[in-house]
Amino acid sequence: MSFTLAIVGRPNVGKSTLFNRLVGKRLALVDDQPGVTRDLREGAARLGDLRFTVIDTAGLEDATDDSLEGRMRRLTERAVEMADVCLFVIDARTGVTPVDEIFAEILRKRSDHVILAANKAEGSAADAGVIEAWGLGLGEPIRLSAEHGEGLNDLYAQLQPLADAYEERAEADAPVTDIEVNEEGETPAQYDHTPTKARPLQVAVVGRPNAGKSTLINTILGEERLLTGPEAGITRDAISLALDWDGLPVRIFDTAGMRKKARVQDKLEKLSVSDGLRAVKFAEVVVVLLDAAIPFEQQDLRIADLAEREGRAVVVAVNKWDVEPEKQQKLRELREAFERLLPQLRGAPLVTVSAKTGKGLDRLRAAVEKAHEVWNRRITTAQLNRWLVGMLEQHPPPAPGGRRIKLRYMTQAKTRPPGFVVMCSHPDKLPESYSRYLINGLRDDFDMSGTPVRLYMRSQS
Ligand code: GDP
Ligand code: GDP
Repeated sequence: MSFTLAIVGRPNVGKSTLFNRLVGKRLALVDDQPGVTRDLREGAARLGDLRFTVIDTAGLEDATDDSLEGRMRRLTERAVEMADVCLFVIDARTGVTPVDEIFAEILRKRSDHVILAANKAEGSAADAGVIEAWGLGLGEPIRLSAEHGEGLNDLYAQLQPLADAYEERAEADAPVTDIEVNEEGETPAQYDHTPTKARPLQVAVVGRPNAGKSTLINTILGEERLLTGPEAGITRDAISLALDWDGLPVRIFDTAGMRKKARVQDKLEKLSVSDGLRAVKFAEVVVVLLDAAIPFEQQDLRIADLAEREGRAVVVAVNKWDVEPEKQQKLRELREAFERLLPQLRGAPLVTVSAKTGKGLDRLRAAVEKAHEVWNRRITTAQLNRWLVGMLEQHPPPAPGGRRIKLRYMTQAKTRPPGFVVMCSHPDKLPESYSRYLINGLRDDFDMSGTPVRLYMRSQS
């Protein structure tokens, strides 16, 4: 099954030109089912080895001026609804217009995967427009020339991993409703094909075998739907379950499957990490579940680090707190170890729980919800630049060779996790420590603990 790409943007930015380039002679295959895609052109597209369906939101030009915005909004929302990935096109020669801003707003709210393209970018007349496009908060713009066929490699590079993720997600999105155990203790999954409409918050519970992951999920479920036990190897594959967690719709990925494969003892660590990686890839929030008796083992650290590098929000939960004898003392030790061993997750929440008794799970739920909110947070450009001025005064950037590095302008380029672009006179000369100073400042001043924060330095030429 292939994915669907919607090309959206205001009239005249080059959507149809790009559509034609992607679809080429295969335009004969265009599907214009009345009612479904009347204003939306659909075609079979090819880019490198990728095959996908492309939707073009043409027909906007016919609209009279006063109805344009509403019509555009409806069409775009419908295209977004139908698509797995949106390609948002702006005209780099014109720069970002107020209408583009409206599109960006719709896309930020409605779509998980947006690729931003600054079209008509052949030649240097487009440079300013490309820089402006950063400010739309949709990540790094691709420099594209639909007419000249430039930038298609960059488009391919962005689509390719999404295509992979889409295929995997299509497999995993069939929720498991029930689990049987056969004589060998294996559990063939049965699938429920009802599509889930409102997308639940994606949570992965990761941790060493026996940390209590299955117990935790069972307790949250409130019923014995997953099988737990002290011995390894009961459930087979990473399992996902959609549920309502006290009013919060979540889909939880469990990596219990690692225990089965882990029968080969010496491969245990490696397999656990790769299995965890799969769950982490799907997740928005990763709960790293530790056993209070043996916290922050090598394997825990690796998975937590991985989650950070993958850009996921992280919550650390310390389990089996019910049998911990010295709670106060232990908590101090845990906080100290956390700061020392995982500095990259500075400020991430640490919650003590008992998966068995259910104690602390309300706080875990609150921490997951908050982490997700922070991960999605958007800070206005005005706020950021006021903040930047203060940071520069408090601690000016270095002046290598007597010329002070200038940081001129800052904007949030993306969310999930939050990413920021700083326009800088000599990004290559700015020391790493200065970036860290800014990142830590952002975390503290905008209450963004527990989420990875990305900072991109760009030269302003
Ligand atoms: P749409 O309304 O967004 O579908 O835009 P069109 O594809 O109809 O293009 C609008 C105009 O921009 C046409 O005159 C195209 O030839 C021109 N155009 C499209 N892509 C490019 C490009 O990459 N560079 C330049 N310079 N012009 C382009
Ligand atoms: P998993 O391998 O991470 O899925 O771990 P399980 O959920 O299978 O739990 C491993 C063992 O730890 C089982 O014997 C559980 O009963 C036990 N366990 C899990 N959570 C707790 C807890 O909060 N307190 C105590 N005392 N034991 C727990």
